Amino acid sequence: MGYKKWFDEHAAKHKLIVEKLVNKGFTKEKIIDYFDFENMVKEEKEFCPLYADNKKCHDMEKLNCYLCACPNFRFSDEGFGKVDGNTQYSFCDIESKDGRQGVYGDKIHQDCSKCGVPHHRSYVEKNFDLEWTKVMGKCIK
Ligand code: SF4
Repeated sequence: MGYKKWFDEHAAKHKLIVEKLVNKGFTKEKIIDYFDFENMVKEEKEFCPLYADNKKCHDMEKLNCYLCACPNFRFSDEGFGKVDGNTQYSFCDIESKDGRQGVYGDKIHQDCSKCGVPHHRSYVEKNFDLEWTKVMGKCIK
């Protein structure tokens, strides 16, 4: 699946959940609570393929799923151009020390597997918006 397809599908799922919670009168705090991994695994099984195995995407005790994937991620399905002869399809806009550029054959993709930035509650609170696409707007190049 390309980045854009994943992005659009995830945006649609996120929107449905948020609309449901807003209609129930949930506050910002309660919405963020709802998106805690432990709750999402039970309540929103379709939101993430890892939920089926009760598996977290990162090894973090407290993991919040509201801002998955990450507002700092930048992607282009067409590619940004060549880096050392390979095509770069994604990168981290803040050059997080915990992320890295992974080279897969002749393709370069951002590897966020060791970075928990967007999953910390404090980060979600600071960057919160009911519209997921608004927070993630800069991801698409
Ligand atoms: S490396 Fe961290 S901050 Fe950068 S895009 Fe990935 S998850 Fe976000």
